[in-house]
Amino acid sequence: LRKDVRLGVGDDCALLEVPDGQELAVSLDTLVAGVHFFADMDPEALGHRALAVNLSDLAAMGAEPAWASLALTLPQADPVWLAAFAGGFCALAAQNDLQLIGGDTTRGPLTITVQVQGLVPSGRAMRRSAARPGDLIYVTGTLGDASLALKYLAEGSPPAPDSDILRRLERPAPRLAEGRALRACAHAAIDVSDGLIADLGHILDASGVGAELRLGRLPLSEPVRAYVQASGDWALPLCGGDDYELCITVPDYQQGTLGILSKNFECGLHLIGRCTEKPGLLCALPSGEPWTPARSGYDHFADGP
Ligand SMILES: [Mg+2]
Repeated sequence: LRKDVRLGVGDDCALLEVPDGQELAVSLDTLVAGVHFFADMDPEALGHRALAVNLSDLAAMGAEPAWASLALTLPQADPVWLAAFAGGFCALAAQNDLQLIGGDTTRGPLTITVQVQGLVPSGRAMRRSAARPGDLIYVTGTLGDASLALKYLAEGSPPAPDSDILRRLERPAPRLAEGRALRACAHAAIDVSDGLIADLGHILDASGVGAELRLGRLPLSEPVRAYVQASGDWALPLCGGDDYELCITVPDYQQGTLGILSKNFECGLHLIGRCTEKPGLLCALPSGEPWTPARSGYDHFADGP
């Protein structure tokens, strides 16, 4: 139990102590069965995932997790399901010294809402609006694994239960330690929840810059690399979502510091492009040819060189 929780579950409100010199970072996410996850998903994995997607937002700001509240809407009270869900949720909370300080349960279609609160030194959080022309763009881990697992599930040919791509979909690992370390030298940051193109697009919009990406530099796992090579479907790793990696922009002169920092990152850190003064997003295939998504609805793309 955390010392900064003056009053936890049981009264009308929890009472929390925010240390001097720290800001409160607050984020909320709702997961709806049939929209964000399959209703028959393993409840233990679901408990993990519901918290992990929120922690990923804290990671993106460089914040340290402290507290969480949980609102559960359930079709029926199933003690076995609930125990498994709580097990997944609480295991990840304990790993991150995070305390559950409140909650609510109601009856209805399966819906999970989690709010997390974290702490970050005042004025030091990484914002989407801080990218500058010339910044280098990096991403942690690998992209497209969860999307590939989801694609196979939707096609009725589920990946092996112990496969890495299924683990990435069901048990995302929020990049908390990486986010806190990157705070030292990154300009802008975001977590990749809706796909790299969409989320990098939020940085570009908020910062008023453009970007050039080299797709040959995208960090891809073996299964995703093989899939993209066979299908040419670059939209899967670029637009798929559920990666929960961090995308950051870093000024050129911090490259050395970043190299030292990222040596401790188990997930790795990969240079994928650069911010430009000219607005819009240009993606270059390994061949050098430009790439634009076949599907419409991505409004971040430049009209062309
Ligand atoms: Mg986010």
